[in-house]
Amino acid sequence: MSFTLAIVGRPNVGKSTLFNRLVGKKLALVDDQPGVTRDLREGEAKLGDLRFTAIDTAGLEDATDDSLEGRMRRLTERAVDMADICLFMIDARAGVTPVDMVFAEILRKRSAHVILAANKGEGSAADAGVIEAYSLGLGEPIRLSAEHGEGLNDLYSQLMPIADEFDKKAEELSDTVEIDVDLDEDAEYDDEGALPSELITEAKPLQIAVVGRPNAGKSTLINKIVGEDRLLTGPEAGITRDAISLRTEWGDTPMRIFDTAGMRKKAKVQDKLEKLSVSDGLRAVKFAEVVVVLLDAAIPFEQQDLRIADLAEREGRAVVVAVNKWDIEDEKQEKLRALKESFTRLLPQLRGAPLITVSAKTGRGLDRLHDAILRAYDTWNRRVSTAHLNRWLAGMLEQHPPPAPQGKRIKLRYMTQAKTRPPGFVVMCSHPDKMPDSYSRYLVNGLREDFDMPGTPIRLTMRGQG
Ligand code: GDP
Ligand code: GDP
Repeated sequence: MSFTLAIVGRPNVGKSTLFNRLVGKKLALVDDQPGVTRDLREGEAKLGDLRFTAIDTAGLEDATDDSLEGRMRRLTERAVDMADICLFMIDARAGVTPVDMVFAEILRKRSAHVILAANKGEGSAADAGVIEAYSLGLGEPIRLSAEHGEGLNDLYSQLMPIADEFDKKAEELSDTVEIDVDLDEDAEYDDEGALPSELITEAKPLQIAVVGRPNAGKSTLINKIVGEDRLLTGPEAGITRDAISLRTEWGDTPMRIFDTAGMRKKAKVQDKLEKLSVSDGLRAVKFAEVVVVLLDAAIPFEQQDLRIADLAEREGRAVVVAVNKWDIEDEKQEKLRALKESFTRLLPQLRGAPLITVSAKTGRGLDRLHDAILRAYDTWNRRVSTAHLNRWLAGMLEQHPPPAPQGKRIKLRYMTQAKTRPPGFVVMCSHPDKMPDSYSRYLVNGLREDFDMPGTPIRLTMRGQG
């Protein structure tokens, strides 16, 4: 697996210039539907021997009205959430501006890895700005000239170790419990108010991906949702040309649907089948907020289905499992029981995710699928108040005290929710390194049950207090 790099910063600092340099001609527009603002561009980037996905937050240049800051913020947040690493660019000639500071703030809160670049760094006019960049509190800036191709070696040296880290992480397939989350201290901890799904708008549609093995019925399902034949379906694999996204309204909910059609094209390469399909699935999964894993009722839970579902969980997406072609099942009750049993056994990491039976062909079950998607989205955005959490933690500790390695009991002092999308919790404790995974799992399962959070990954980090 490779990583995704988002290039962010205020307009005109040189983001697109760098993007074009990294991506060359192999560029893909994220929004390839005519008439839609092309606010995020994505491309396969190359730097030395590194291969990664680059995201450019272009399109802000058009925004000249008051809404600029809001749009910029949303766009940046979206890019940051999609990316593993953010390259935050400032214009070294202009120095640090107030808008840059707004960005720095967003990044400090939201992104695990930030690389700071002071662009337009050629010549002495940039000297002062490069020094000023340190004041953003994001570490040492790289002096870049995107236009002249200078400083790319330094960029490479900063990306290398992080890329290695991601490769390693990708290899550890199993344990998803302990993933680092950033403590978002200013966030509001309230679990009241409008549901996130009620706030989905035209401007910010719900992003879903439909993933699954070739012939599961993805295209048929998307056609049914979109209500017109925009995708071609057929019995043979490989009809649709590229990975695409479509804007639609599904039962009044504005949605953008990412399809992994590329998966099918490559599915013909038999020996590399699984590897390729996973990396293609990754693309759609990365852009999605909710991932619908579509299974074929006749051959559910194949190796490939499991890998895709696992991938969606590891990427931290909300997951809904839909079992398709239910119209041709005879022994429905019996089958459903067997499906649920396989699900629990084969995908324990998706514990509690909804399993919906549908027929993409007839449209049966699609209402329930729609509702399950919205529910999963709400859970994924769920925020539990700190007070509530700590009351809960006290009860959990009493019921089942933490272990005492070498006679010293690990103390869990305090707990807070650091992140949403997916929910991420941090527990402050003594000796976080000695905490057994089984105890973390006890807490995660407890959170899931007691706060009703099915269908979303839950991250839990143990952190020592310095
Ligand atoms: P974006 O809005 O951040 O994507 O910025 P662009 O990539 O469109 O660049 C804005 C302007 O800055 C363009 O006129 C570029 O040619 C110029 N530019 C980009 N990189 C450099 C650089 O390294 N040095 C100089 N002098 N100009 C640059
Ligand atoms: P994709 O490769 O996942 O996009 O699958 P397609 O949408 O191309 O569907 C593969 C085959 O399954 C086609 O022949 C569809 O007509 C058929 N199919 C899709 N959904 C259903 C369904 O709900 N019921 C039945 N009986 N067949 C379906």
